[in-house]
Amino acid sequence: MKILVVEDETQLADALSEILKRHRYAVDTVYNGIDGLDNALTDIYDCIVLDIMLPGMNGIEILRNIRNEKISTPVILLTARSEIEDKINGLDCGADDYLTKPFVTGELLARIRALTRRKGEIVDDSKLSYCGLILNKDSCSMTYNENDVKLSLKEYQIMEMLMTNPKRILPKERIIEKIWGFESDVEYNNIEVYISFLRKKLSAIGTDIKIKTARGIGYSIE
Ligand code: CA
Repeated sequence: MKILVVEDETQLADALSEILKRHRYAVDTVYNGIDGLDNALTDIYDCIVLDIMLPGMNGIEILRNIRNEKISTPVILLTARSEIEDKINGLDCGADDYLTKPFVTGELLARIRALTRRKGEIVDDSKLSYCGLILNKDSCSMTYNENDVKLSLKEYQIMEMLMTNPKRILPKERIIEKIWGFESDVEYNNIEVYISFLRKKLSAIGTDIKIKTARGIGYSIE
């Protein structure tokens, strides 16, 4: 899962990003409205945490813009106590939820989980399942018929992308954008290495689930 944090209070933004990463989300953090809009328009995020008062362009304008572009990424607005009007305005403009600052990070995490819960067959907040294969968030591992195998963080993130989009081909560029970010110089063969690790691990726990290669395009799980 990839999250965009748009917040100009750099300490808060960086703290949020750290906490989200610790909970195994991939995170991009930007500190002004213009970058916020640019990133949001790429439509690669599973959730956007959006401050309202921002330099460059405010959160409500960003929201209006992305909804105009038919981007339906769940958005959680961060509001100050004095911004009640903005909050109502934000919900009218298509925000999915809001949090009033200061907030407890546990609450933000719970709301992100609630908003991103729609895809795939989710057993509970910390598990994702597909045809008997279970991906465990807390232990960063996969389980099939009592067989368990540990995953590295990148393997986990790739597996999560595949399992939330079963039978759909995920282009390699999309995997790179989501997991390594735009600025990264990860090469396509790096992904192939991770995929080959995952294939070995899938067969090690005895599942029939395969990661198929769509030549020149990407991967799908079947
Ligand atoms: Ca602000």
